[in-house]
Amino acid sequence: MHTFQIGLIAVSLLVGSTISYAERTIETPPKVKNVILMIGDGMGVAHVSATMLYHNEAPLNMERAHGVGLVKTRSANNMVTDSAAAATALATGTKTNNGMIGVDADGNVLSNLVELSEKKGLSTGLVVTSAVTHATPAGFVAHVPHRSQEEKIAEAFVKSGLEVFIGGGQKFFSNRRDKQDLTKALSESGYTVAFNQDDVQKHKKGKLCALLAPNQMPYCSDGRADYLATSTQKALDILSGENAKGFFLMVEGSLIDYAGHDNNIDRIVSETKDFDQAVKVAFDFADKHPDTLVIVTADHGTGGLSIISNSKNFTDSEKGLKYTFGTTSHSAEMVPLFAYGKGAKWFSGVWDNTDIPKMIAQVLGLREKSK
Ligand SMILES: [Zn+2]
Repeated sequence: MHTFQIGLIAVSLLVGSTISYAERTIETPPKVKNVILMIGDGMGVAHVSATMLYHNEAPLNMERAHGVGLVKTRSANNMVTDSAAAATALATGTKTNNGMIGVDADGNVLSNLVELSEKKGLSTGLVVTSAVTHATPAGFVAHVPHRSQEEKIAEAFVKSGLEVFIGGGQKFFSNRRDKQDLTKALSESGYTVAFNQDDVQKHKKGKLCALLAPNQMPYCSDGRADYLATSTQKALDILSGENAKGFFLMVEGSLIDYAGHDNNIDRIVSETKDFDQAVKVAFDFADKHPDTLVIVTADHGTGGLSIISNSKNFTDSEKGLKYTFGTTSHSAEMVPLFAYGKGAKWFSGVWDNTDIPKMIAQVLGLREKSK
């Protein structure tokens, strides 16, 4: 079996990247046709554990993974990353400062996985529960000095080439300070623009832009129902339907993070469980399309969640536990990685978040290695 130094290959994959992880020798991972990257925003190991325990230890779909790893998350300027720097790392393979989107710490533009996939002729998509202009999806589309520039980030979607994007954030497209209506530009460039879930489900062919809330989508507990799982399925139908070259899809369970900031354990669990239903859709797709790789990970933990005994009901998984929070902000511990499908076992190990897009670029053949 051919082996190589993945650290050396990484240098040629994404411009401007530096190797921030120990070089390691592994067998060559296989080429895959499709990659689905799923990000639980703020979903640390404790959040996943709480979701298992809270429902009397019901197994999660994430547990079907056959490659499991841990991911280091620090940003260029902070031991505790935010979603903007983490999204930039996960999309481009380069660390940047907290708050920055798609540019390095000096402001230089970085190529992201959506751009590299489009360049290679693959189809691309994003599905989120936040605004599509929020930090995590923005890292896969835009290049701006600060995550708060959501109207500017919306402009990047018009030129992105994405075949499908579904989420909230309508106000950043059509209720803007400059009075432009970007949804017009999107429909002129061939998108079906949907403003409700019925129209999303009715959509059959061609590019789809769905902006289903002014800003973020409602919480599950406030009536979002199975939006994330059905939208993930719709995106997979669109992406797998027409392009024989394959696709890259990013799916985010965005509101796990919001629930973590609020130290709201019920909501952390319902949002993580909802994200896990989207994971089921992706894993089932990989079962039916064996040339598909699914990576499930997080950008950081949120809330400093810990799960301890309440010292009373030791064996009852709900009543015997107490959920405590150390912060209303983010935390620095490693986050989980669950890989499923073709090549999944190569993702086992301890990684830096910048390694993940390098490996995705490699298995999708987005940057052929230089001799
Ligand atoms: Zn956050």
